[in-house]
Amino acid sequence: HAKTQGKGQIAVYNPTFDEGRLHRLAVEAQIGRGLSSGEFEVHYQPEVDAKTGEVVAVEALLRWPRRLEGPLPPDEFIEIAEATGQIHPLGMFVLERACRDIAPLGNLRLSVNVSPAQFRDAHFERQVAHVLEQTQFPPHRLQFEITEGYLLANPERVVRAVETFKSRGLSIALDDFGTGFTSIHYLRSYGFSHIKIDKSLLIGLSPGSKAAMLVSGAIMLACGLDMRVIAEGVETDEQADLLRKAGCHKLQGFLFGKPMPLDEFVAHLARSRRALGESPVRIAS
Ligand code: C2E
Ligand code: MG
Ligand code: MG
Ligand code: MG
Repeated sequence: HAKTQGKGQIAVYNPTFDEGRLHRLAVEAQIGRGLSSGEFEVHYQPEVDAKTGEVVAVEALLRWPRRLEGPLPPDEFIEIAEATGQIHPLGMFVLERACRDIAPLGNLRLSVNVSPAQFRDAHFERQVAHVLEQTQFPPHRLQFEITEGYLLANPERVVRAVETFKSRGLSIALDDFGTGFTSIHYLRSYGFSHIKIDKSLLIGLSPGSKAAMLVSGAIMLACGLDMRVIAEGVETDEQADLLRKAGCHKLQGFLFGKPMPLDEFVAHLARSRRALGESPVRIAS
């Protein structure tokens, strides 16, 4: 409140205590509580082979029911966790849980979103190695997804981290492709194994549309650079057909399954493997 303070002095509105700041402080405290009381959950969304329809991979997505205040979507709390540094314990929680959950499910590949701050963290590589050892998760089945927006800020750092993880057998996907401004030059020098076409590029995707030109161009570019392509946000058969014809390798989206808790995902996997006439899910333990 701008009130007069003494003689003709006007207090300046203090932006550090505005509503946004209070909300962030509250969420920061709630994340701390959530971490220590086990409120966070990991859900799993299938990624299917575009040609065969087989579930070949799964993306781990963080969920926060927030016991007292109600659920908050990851887009909202991840940003706050990045600002407070809580992304480090949160990120390791997701990685460890997902590795434990997915390790027994045959040859399924696992994709985990990694924040820029984690990539920058000097301890991250060692912590990843530790989780892989603890969970016995084969590194060649693990993929990190990193969002395009980060690349511009720290190109050398990303190239180094990508190389290190690749040398350990992991692969790195460029997430949300098409929402940032990655130059073709950088795309080539990074050594990503996959790009994930952002769901916003699939809007209005019908044969002959501009969206179709853009998407097939992106797929050609990626293939030319020896990368594989995943489309996210696939919701209709028409989109899936078009992406398949354009040479997209994997498809992910509500058409094939929403993100779901582990037990539902295992049932989904068993159903889809049965439908394709494969052996049922083997749960090793
Ligand atoms: P993302 O990595 O690009 O994940 C894909 C998002 O698209 C997910 O949103 C997923 O639920 C949603 N999605 C998948 N298929 C469809 C579809 O067919 N239609 C529509 N409309 N949406 C679809 P979600 O789970 O809300 O996550 C949002 C973002 O939050 C993620 O985007 C990712 O950037 C971030 N995030 C989620 N979990 C983690 C995490 O464990 N660590 C980090 N660093 N970020 C995470
Ligand atoms: Mg992702
Ligand atoms: Mg993302
Ligand atoms: Mg994405």
